[in-house]
Amino acid sequence: MSVQPSLGKLVYRNDLTSDLAIIRIQPSDGSPVPDFKPGQFVTLGIKLDGEGDKITNRAYSLSSPPEEKRYFELYIKWAQEPVPGKFTTALFNMKEGDELYWRKPAGVFTIEEKKVDGTPDERTLVLVASGTGLAPFVGYCLHLKSTGSKRRIALLHGARNAKELGYRELFERLAKENSSNFIYLPTVSRPSDPNSAGWTGHTGRVESLLVPKNGMSELEKALGGRVSPENSFFHICGYSGTIDSVISILQPLGFVSNRNKRKDGSFDIKVETYG
Ligand SMILES: Cc1cc2nc3c(=O)[nH]c(=O)nc-3n(C[C@H](O)[C@H](O)[C@H](O)COP(=O)(O)OP(=O)(O)OC[C@H]3O[C@@H](n4cnc5c(N)ncnc54)[C@H](O)[C@@H]3O)c2cc1C
Repeated sequence: MSVQPSLGKLVYRNDLTSDLAIIRIQPSDGSPVPDFKPGQFVTLGIKLDGEGDKITNRAYSLSSPPEEKRYFELYIKWAQEPVPGKFTTALFNMKEGDELYWRKPAGVFTIEEKKVDGTPDERTLVLVASGTGLAPFVGYCLHLKSTGSKRRIALLHGARNAKELGYRELFERLAKENSSNFIYLPTVSRPSDPNSAGWTGHTGRVESLLVPKNGMSELEKALGGRVSPENSFFHICGYSGTIDSVISILQPLGFVSNRNKRKDGSFDIKVETYG
């Protein structure tokens, strides 16, 4: 039996570029958003022009933490190549106050708090995102901060240009406030793009931060030592190319992903693919 979708209202949109936005959706009946775990996604629905009462649905990771009960926050890219995406084209035409449907959060791309033997997992959380694959990690970081977690976090974000490094100010602030426990490594793959003007940070795809140069990768330099399955647990989110590249770099180091767990059920990489 499928649960009826609820109505929600677009209450905020912040267009970072012409095809990338942070939006907020509030339940139309004024109720608080339901409980969820950081890393879960919400399914949004829109009745597209010319399609009658049919609702077209798409999944979007929540960038707001579960502690935020007023709205769901989402970080969404307008798919335009090679043809305009059905859902995002309609969504990017919406304005504050417009309504759409939502279904309660779901998904298993959540923080692994415990190891397979039931002991607390205290390994460094290495969060690797390309593009809007950043969204669930915004929720993770805000949740871990609000619960006073002492777990060390390294967040690696790759975008085409500097303007597409969404939530950059938030992460720069978290890194400044807590430099020993929060590492932020952004990188842009198109440094000569006008939207990267003034960028002096890392360049290349996000996986390049994991490739050793002169003995150590940029991640290892930032952490001050080698990454291994004993000291680090990876989450990777975004399109399949990024996920496959990161796994192919980590596998020779002994890391095992949740797609192919060890016999005892343990793993050190958790992935979420957008398509
Ligand atoms: C668990 C999960 C979480 C997600 N979270 C996010 C998120 O946080 N942010 C986000 O931006 N996205 C997220 N996504 C992706 C999102 O669900 C949609 O897939 C995305 O927004 C595109 O939807 P669309 O309807 O606009 O595009 P669609 O119409 O579904 O098209 C998808 C892509 O295929 C291409 N395409 C369509 N038709 C053709 C064709 N005939 N030939 C060749 N190519 C074609 C389009 O150009 C487009 O690039 C998530 C996906 C999953 C599964």
